Amino acid sequence: MSDYLVRAASRPLLSGLMRALRLPTPVTLNRAEPPFVPEALENQTFYIGQTDNARLGRKIGNVLSSGGAHARTLEDVDTEGSTAHHGLVFDATGMQGADDLSALYLFVNRVARQIAACGRVVILADAPERLDSTEASAAAQAVEGFVRSFAKEVGKFGTTVNGIYVEPGAESRISEPLRFLLSDHSAFIDGQVLTISGAGRAPRSVPTRGTLVDKVAVVTGAARGIGAATARRLASEGAKVVAIDVPDNRDPLENLSQEIGGAALALDITSGQAAAEIGDFCNAQHGGIDVFVHNAAITRDRSLANMSTDEWQSVLAVNLQAVLSIDAELDRRKLLRDHARIVCMSSVAGIAGNRGQTNYAATKAGLMGFVRARSDALRSRGVCYNAVAPGFIETAMTAAMPLPLREAGRRMSSLGQGGYPEDVASVVAFLSTPGAGGLSGNVVRVCGQGLIGA
Ligand code: NAD
Repeated sequence: MSDYLVRAASRPLLSGLMRALRLPTPVTLNRAEPPFVPEALENQTFYIGQTDNARLGRKIGNVLSSGGAHARTLEDVDTEGSTAHHGLVFDATGMQGADDLSALYLFVNRVARQIAACGRVVILADAPERLDSTEASAAAQAVEGFVRSFAKEVGKFGTTVNGIYVEPGAESRISEPLRFLLSDHSAFIDGQVLTISGAGRAPRSVPTRGTLVDKVAVVTGAARGIGAATARRLASEGAKVVAIDVPDNRDPLENLSQEIGGAALALDITSGQAAAEIGDFCNAQHGGIDVFVHNAAITRDRSLANMSTDEWQSVLAVNLQAVLSIDAELDRRKLLRDHARIVCMSSVAGIAGNRGQTNYAATKAGLMGFVRARSDALRSRGVCYNAVAPGFIETAMTAAMPLPLREAGRRMSSLGQGGYPEDVASVVAFLSTPGAGGLSGNVVRVCGQGLIGA
């Protein structure tokens, strides 16, 4: 499953013709191969800038240099002129009021034109709701509007723009999220603002290579699509993966498990014994769980007035109630290890709503409420709960959509194309790593800044 316009636009002759015909010409996105490596930014040049009272100090420069990148400033532009570069990082923390936003405007305005295709822009600011002054809070919130709008301007070049809100005490936790957003592992995340919290116990050490070696990861709905890509991606980071899917999918599930050296557990997550079976298996085989990805879901689309009780209840049961029961059982049995990571597969439908999907969208919004509510509960043990909300992803599900709807889903986004299951898997894998310990209660959209729900 791939995008015919992305394929055509990658051929010089055809792309010229497409432009002449005013057809969309989405660029082929730069995607990094797994696994995560520290030198993910090797030989790339980024311009870095900051406001007068920025408080992240040398941390941004350190992330770039440890990733193998070169950092330049506006002073370099003054002496050598602006040259093509891979992107921008701006430290907008410490802003006191709206006047401080001028520094952000001047910096980006000066070097925006020379960002290479598939560049990366990240802007860091204080978390608005954690600031005492109204002026400072308004200025920090303004960054979100800036990020989302600039992303819409440069998306046609495959360039992404994202933000990071840094809560007090979270300064030491910015390195891995910043490196991830600057790298080509985050190719389909665009126009998003993550919040890094300083709360909770930090892991003693954060590996930058083999990030999930010796960790036990469970993925539901792993027989195909995004779940299978996630299981493969977690295994590529070194995790031992327990792949779960319905008994009808036993064959593909076992093939996948063999391929990645994991284990297959064929069960229906809505069955009364599912939570206990998963708990028993993980306890007996591994003694605990480090990563749990709640990915399995179903759709039963119909307008609400025509929706049967079964269509409503079956979607609620798989997509939401099973997640709550499994999580409660694992918690009750204390099977989640310290610093465990729980990732729920939500959807932009849960943010924007979709006609004919009241059941599905309700469950996907419910998962966002679930991770926010749970993120405080086990923070003292360093356990993090996050949701990932994919937009239009090229899977069997979206291939079956009527052509006009499919085209609208693909093109109505800043990047002008659909994502791949591997794009979603990459985000899930990142959220599962020790370096993502500052992220909890976040909903990360992987949608190329789709207009629907973005
Ligand atoms: P898919 O239908 O291809 O795969 C879902 C898997 O879950 C299947 O293998 C299925 O057998 C399994 N499953 C369903 N019910 C189960 C049950 N009761 N017990 C165990 N396993 C069960 O779906 P996908 O497109 O890969 O989507 C994966 C996740 O991403 C879902 O949560 C979906 O809602 C979400 N999502 C997908 C898209 C997209 O564009 N594909 C967009 C937004 C969100």
